[in-house]
Amino acid sequence: ESFNSLQAYAKDKLSRQMVELFEACQQQSSDLERKERCRAQLQQDIQGIYAVARLYLTGSSMNGLGCRSSDADLCLVIKGTKRPDPIRVLSHLQRAFRSLSYVERTQLIRAKVPILRFRERGSDLEFDLNINNTVGIRNTFLLRSYAYADLRIRPMILVIKKWARHSQINDASKGTLSSYTLVLMVLHYLQTLKDPVLPSLQRDYPECFSPSVDIDMVPEGPKRVPPYVSRNQSSLGELLVGFLRYYATEFSPPSLFSFLCPASAFLVSCFWLRGRSRWDKQVISVREARALPKTNSHEWTNKYICVEEPFERNNVARAVHEKMKFDTIKAEFAESYRILKDRKDLNSILPVRAVI
Ligand code: ATP
Ligand code: MG
Repeated sequence: ESFNSLQAYAKDKLSRQMVELFEACQQQSSDLERKERCRAQLQQDIQGIYAVARLYLTGSSMNGLGCRSSDADLCLVIKGTKRPDPIRVLSHLQRAFRSLSYVERTQLIRAKVPILRFRERGSDLEFDLNINNTVGIRNTFLLRSYAYADLRIRPMILVIKKWARHSQINDASKGTLSSYTLVLMVLHYLQTLKDPVLPSLQRDYPECFSPSVDIDMVPEGPKRVPPYVSRNQSSLGELLVGFLRYYATEFSPPSLFSFLCPASAFLVSCFWLRGRSRWDKQVISVREARALPKTNSHEWTNKYICVEEPFERNNVARAVHEKMKFDTIKAEFAESYRILKDRKDLNSILPVRAVI
């Protein structure tokens, strides 16, 4: 039934290509079952060391935005009065994992949120395990609720993730955008259209997404909020071109030459003289479904891209700290928009055969 209704948004070639890519790449229930089996076994083995620990699957495995090749993000929750040091716990687990027959290639990554990365032995399934980063459990439920609020969200985001990966702008460890940042950027675009495709779920259902809900009560199961009924009936292809246009032209000051109308040319030159674009002045907020003016908080000053974490309200795009990487990201948006708006062929910006 949902497949049939999705066809209503896919009557043109570009939209059909997007549905096709989505159908070919989206995570299958067998993929999730395999991740869930590993999670349950790991939880049992970890409870041999930390009796009260609980292990949660998070990220794209659970939020409806995963591909067949997505990794499995795990959050180990260790409750207690004393906050354990994540690095100490992870080093301990790294040693303990040596005796597990189904784990291999463990690697401790000392990032802001430290993680233990490992693989299921003999397979290409990769895990990223963190300690007590429970905001990931809350925002996974929030993203999941957005993913199922409208039929177009999942195909749209999967295609954009594939495009960003192919364009080499989807790797926070190399100074570009994390998948999480990219997803929030898509949701923001859909929330701020003249006819929004999405509302702010945190505003409309505050009790569902309250940060004080006990972590055990954050639903992992099927969606809880009713679907959003939007007046916007744009096709998938129109939304994709619109997304690229939004970040290519509305966030960056457009070239003077592209404006033949004198009034707007004047406005644009004012922007040029002040040398500031919306990237410099605004914070993308999915929580409020709008772009907020930057405050003087150190979270936002001297940052190229500002995207607010919906619960902790810090900057999820802080990995973009080099001007060159920021310019690369903007150039990819501009170039893909320029090509796609005329060609209306997904292969012109993303060779579909190469990414399936
Ligand atoms: P992919 O399919 O590419 O693995 P993903 O949806 O799993 O994408 P990641 O960027 O790998 O996205 O992040 C995994 C999860 O970790 C997110 O869904 C989110 O729950 C959490 N997360 C990532 N970055 C942050 C952050 N800066 N602040 C809070 N939570 C984050
Ligand atoms: Mg992931």
